[in-house]
Amino acid sequence: MSLNNHVIVAGGGASGLCAAIAAARKGATVNVIEKNDTCGKKLSMTGNGRCNLANLNVSSDDYNERSRNRMKNWLEEFGVDRVAEFFASLGLVIVSEDGYLYPISGQAGSVVSVLMNECQRLGVEFTYNEQVKRIIKNDDRAYTVKTDKNEYNCKAVILATGGLAGPKTTGSTGDGYYICEQLGMSKKDTFPALVPLLSEDETLPSESGVRSIARITFMIGEGEIATEYGEVQITRNGISGIPVMQASGVVAEHLAKGRPITCSIDFFPGYSENEFEELVNRLMNLSDDRKLGELLDGFCNSHINEMVLKRMKISRGMKLKNVGSSMLSCILYKYRDIRVEISGTADYKKAQVTRGGISLGDLTDKLEAKSAEGVFVVGELCDVDGRCGGYNLQWAWTSGYIAGEAAGSL
Ligand SMILES: Cc1cc2nc3c(=O)[nH]c(=O)nc-3n(C[C@H](O)[C@H](O)[C@H](O)COP(=O)(O)OP(=O)(O)OC[C@H]3O[C@@H](n4cnc5c(N)ncnc54)[C@H](O)[C@@H]3O)c2cc1C
Repeated sequence: MSLNNHVIVAGGGASGLCAAIAAARKGATVNVIEKNDTCGKKLSMTGNGRCNLANLNVSSDDYNERSRNRMKNWLEEFGVDRVAEFFASLGLVIVSEDGYLYPISGQAGSVVSVLMNECQRLGVEFTYNEQVKRIIKNDDRAYTVKTDKNEYNCKAVILATGGLAGPKTTGSTGDGYYICEQLGMSKKDTFPALVPLLSEDETLPSESGVRSIARITFMIGEGEIATEYGEVQITRNGISGIPVMQASGVVAEHLAKGRPITCSIDFFPGYSENEFEELVNRLMNLSDDRKLGELLDGFCNSHINEMVLKRMKISRGMKLKNVGSSMLSCILYKYRDIRVEISGTADYKKAQVTRGGISLGDLTDKLEAKSAEGVFVVGELCDVDGRCGGYNLQWAWTSGYIAGEAAGSL
């Protein structure tokens, strides 16, 4: 085979398949080397099996701070319109649910299928059950890709081996970091992101999973580092739910620097201060011969009530008249500021994405390694992570397509 226009893609996940298509559309011969026995294992479990493949409202602000400047340009080049166009060209019908894009089939498997069908149509070759171990630069501006079983020569390599997040069966073992470092690239420290947070607080409900709409603010001391709104889930081991996951990457970075993180949960986020004061006054006027527990039964979730009473060391059987109005007011206001100390994050297996990765400063605008011309780095392997809501797959398509076109045109 002539090496003139031969591209090897290491990793057949979202970014790798997209890159393979883009390179093949430019006329390159493409071989995808995948260490699993099939491509797109993680992709087929995204979005709870429905694949939230992009978001109409995407902007660079949806990505970690370090990447925002570069993301602006990348999204201008291959933003959500280009993603929609790309999938339309593969025959995938997409629907929007409040801006969150899904295949109309409701099956993430459809996304994998249309990508694989297009690869087949373009003559992309697949090598399964081989793990890329190393890339060696040769004198003739070509590369040798060494796997655990074979060696392959090519003109360009696209590294799309993903990060560390998700079940290990999906192939997320972080192999690409070492391969890139061998080629002179540097890596920003990695952390699990979009991940539940752990707490050793013994007052957390013993029931698994109390869910409630809340505003949650993460703090170092009293200094706010992130605030989110949505359905928070509180379990014996900690907190999760979309708002917690959204903040988890920032929290993980601070925890790794040894900074203690506390969160404050407001279970009445829809109430202004005045409205809440009125509510409290109304409830205090009910202070007849009822018991405290009876008042709280109608006020909030029973497990949250239990948690508050446990923290304040007050019995639900206490008569309201004995509680007293200032104590009652103090109890009710607690629901707007429940403090939970965060002890860590759940591990990578429970994470949806990796924060950190190959430094963007080591890559050109075409995602080509500055230290190794002809080697491209895409997807989760890069130091880019986005919010939950289709933004991480958007990055996989954006980086995959831009790098694929460039590699295919070399
Ligand atoms: C449970 C879950 C749900 C998610 N849901 C969503 C969602 O709805 N929307 C969204 O935007 N994002 C979602 N994500 C994140 C999204 O899946 C990732 O951002 C995306 O898959 C990253 O694509 P990638 O191509 O970089 O890596 P991957 O998709 O992880 O692909 C990497 C591929 O490389 C292969 N590989 C690894 N090492 C080697 C090697 N040495 N040699 C050969 N092959 C190798 C792996 O086997 C794998 O096939 C979810 C993640 C998880 C875990």
